[in-house]
Amino acid sequence: ESFAAFQLQPFLQTAIKNLGFETPTPVQAKVIPVIEAGRSIVGQSQTGSGKTHAFLLPIFNTIDATKDQVQVVITTPSRELAYQIYEAAKQIASFAPAPIRIHNYVGGTDKQRQIEQLKKHQPQIVIGTPGRIADLIGDSVLDIHQAHQFVVDEADMTLDMGFLAQVDQIAGALPENLQMMVFSATIPDKLRPFLRKYMANPVVERI
Ligand code: AMP
Repeated sequence: ESFAAFQLQPFLQTAIKNLGFETPTPVQAKVIPVIEAGRSIVGQSQTGSGKTHAFLLPIFNTIDATKDQVQVVITTPSRELAYQIYEAAKQIASFAPAPIRIHNYVGGTDKQRQIEQLKKHQPQIVIGTPGRIADLIGDSVLDIHQAHQFVVDEADMTLDMGFLAQVDQIAGALPENLQMMVFSATIPDKLRPFLRKYMANPVVERI
């Protein structure tokens, strides 16, 4: 299997080369074609499997840099994980032919500054922890109603930490016709009602 088998734009192929990735990981080989096909997915996989790039690469493929609106929302339960995804996304974006705005919204950061920034510009990719993202939506400063993709990373940990209500709030502000990607090391029974509520016919991959 090779990255050339996917429908990724030339700048993404360049990014992959510069990152030093030679072949897709098993998670990437399974997940990237499903996301490219526009299907919603539940991916059961561990950290360290390359899952961050499994969703980031096909997501970047769909971003319209000319549109000043949120196109993708990514939530993750911890600030550290949000920062890691943000850094990986910025690295990919550095190869894009036009600037792509990516913002990281986590608790413990200057909310007022984020509000001022959002009044000027909406980012195209939103990454963060559920609480702060839900807050900014509740304040009517972050507008996600045009987003077409939603990634819930580490869904089991999100549930354990009690953030599912905020994820639910975010999902409620998203359009109905949405590609949803849920990644989780385990699929606990308590997560199933959430999956059923938002995903009609997802592809389920255990890797
Ligand atoms: P993750 O599971 O997303 O946290 O990724 C784990 C590590 O694997 C990160 O340091 C990635 O940069 C790296 N990685 C992701 N995809 C590949 C790949 N196809 N080849 C080599 N390294 C990779």
